[in-house]
Amino acid sequence: MKISKQHNLLIFGPQGSGKGTQAEILSKKFGIPAISAGAALRRIADEDSERGKKVKEYLNKGELVPGDLTNEIMRERILEDDCEKGFIFDGFPRNEKQMNFILKQGIPIDLLIVLQLSDEDGVSRIAGRRTCANGHPYHIKSDPPKIEGFCDDPCKLPLFQREDETAEAIKERLRIYHEETEPLIETLRERGILTLEIDARPKIQEIANEIQKKILETHGSL
Ligand SMILES: [Zn+2]
Repeated sequence: MKISKQHNLLIFGPQGSGKGTQAEILSKKFGIPAISAGAALRRIADEDSERGKKVKEYLNKGELVPGDLTNEIMRERILEDDCEKGFIFDGFPRNEKQMNFILKQGIPIDLLIVLQLSDEDGVSRIAGRRTCANGHPYHIKSDPPKIEGFCDDPCKLPLFQREDETAEAIKERLRIYHEETEPLIETLRERGILTLEIDARPKIQEIANEIQKKILETHGSL
């Protein structure tokens, strides 16, 4: 597949839909970077600059970085050399304010990919995750340890659930997704942006194949 001009993609999906994973697969396939606001902010935080220090403070405190600053950092990010052929925004814009920024800046969007997963499936996928202090990942249903509650040999450390991955925490994030992000789909569609809706229930590679197939069908060769 060859990219003939710049292609800018958005990928939306609720928590647990595997949005970040699919963005990375697409990025490798098409040779354009996948950019999440979180990653862009962390990179700025590592910079030895006034702005870097400011961003780092917000991140370290676990506070939200102000919207204007995030927008500005995302705008600068896509002006970098690796975005010459396009980019994939992973989970950005997240709300109307961010979307209006993109539209106002005149950043062209070619395609919106929406991963679809029920809240029930999203919660069960994420709330089933467990990890040990060494970061070995498990899932109580799809990838359980040999002994419940403990990492396999040779680690054997107790497994725990991250605070932001409890059912309660995920339900709250899903509520925000439905309230703030989902309405953007209709707005983008009304603006004539091609929207591909993809079932996020199958296995990772099957979803990736489906996305690529649909891109080819509807968009020609990306
Ligand atoms: Zn372990």
